[in-house]
Amino acid sequence: MRDGMVAVVRWFDSWSGLEGMKSDASRQIDWLRCVPFIVIHLVCLAVVWVGWSWTAVGMAAALYVVRMFALTAFYHRYFSHRSFRTSRVMQFLFALLGSTAIQRGPLWWASHHRHHHRFSDQPEDAHSPLQHGFIYSHMGWFMTPSNFAPRLQLIRDFARYPELRFLDRFDVVVPVLAGAAVWIAGDLLARFAPGLGTSGAQLFVWGVISTVVLFHGTFTINSLAHIIGRQRYATGDGSRNSWLLTLITLGEGWHNNHHHYAASARLGHRWWEIDPAHAVLRLFARVGLIWDLRGVPEHVLATAAGQPCGRSGPGGATTARHDAFARGSSLTPADRSSFTDSSGGS
Ligand SMILES: [Zn+2]
Ligand SMILES: [Zn+2]
Repeated sequence: MRDGMVAVVRWFDSWSGLEGMKSDASRQIDWLRCVPFIVIHLVCLAVVWVGWSWTAVGMAAALYVVRMFALTAFYHRYFSHRSFRTSRVMQFLFALLGSTAIQRGPLWWASHHRHHHRFSDQPEDAHSPLQHGFIYSHMGWFMTPSNFAPRLQLIRDFARYPELRFLDRFDVVVPVLAGAAVWIAGDLLARFAPGLGTSGAQLFVWGVISTVVLFHGTFTINSLAHIIGRQRYATGDGSRNSWLLTLITLGEGWHNNHHHYAASARLGHRWWEIDPAHAVLRLFARVGLIWDLRGVPEHVLATAAGQPCGRSGPGGATTARHDAFARGSSLTPADRSSFTDSSGGS
């Protein structure tokens, strides 16, 4: 009974009972805690009542693109890997935009991702399809008590900001406000532009559909990106490069490149490996919103497939430094220079 209460409280305060969450390392899915995630999927069925319009479908597509960009550029490249720098205000706005994806807060998301880089495809990896199967790596791992808590010890660098801790703890606030805004926008359009054929309920349902597609588009990087595609670098894990996943995720499909060198803001390592999110980040840098965009050093690009670059071998030390950076630990000045010597890489 008490566990049920805690699960419901965590719908609203995801840090409730944080200490208990750490010791509760079950791989069993806590269905009650995951009711909001299930309900979001069920809301999509309401499309049979609200119908569709070009306005609603266009908004859903736009919300997908904008929020996928927020996830790859901010939650992943900024909060997980610090691959560029920005101001505290922009940092908050980036976290705010990422929160609209309903994939928990920036501290939870980035800290679990840093953990993934540290233990990629080893038994400790929370979402390894090679260790735990496709479904669990796609969407089971975050439904289990062992992964409900943010791994705060891995994200101390950002956990010191109270505004980020608030967004992370009360991660329901931004999605509820965003959902209300979409509904109100639909009502206003129905009233002042009836020719568009939309309504508050219709825009809301299509916003939820966009969110669910965004869920599973993002999750492919935890599941499929370690199964399908090619390996350029012998990273010692199952990470792969895939065009298909790149198109879905605006650049994240170059996952083997990324596991080889996690500190770079650019995930494509060849001119033909397009990385839409990086292109937008370069625009952001040009207008001064962000700076110190990290690139990929030449000696890293020169590491060919078949040459060990993993935890042992000639490049092992390099990869270890990247692992250290991935989890946000402190770097020596020499390490730091190795990350900055190609900033602004194109
Ligand atoms: Zn991975
Ligand atoms: Zn990463």
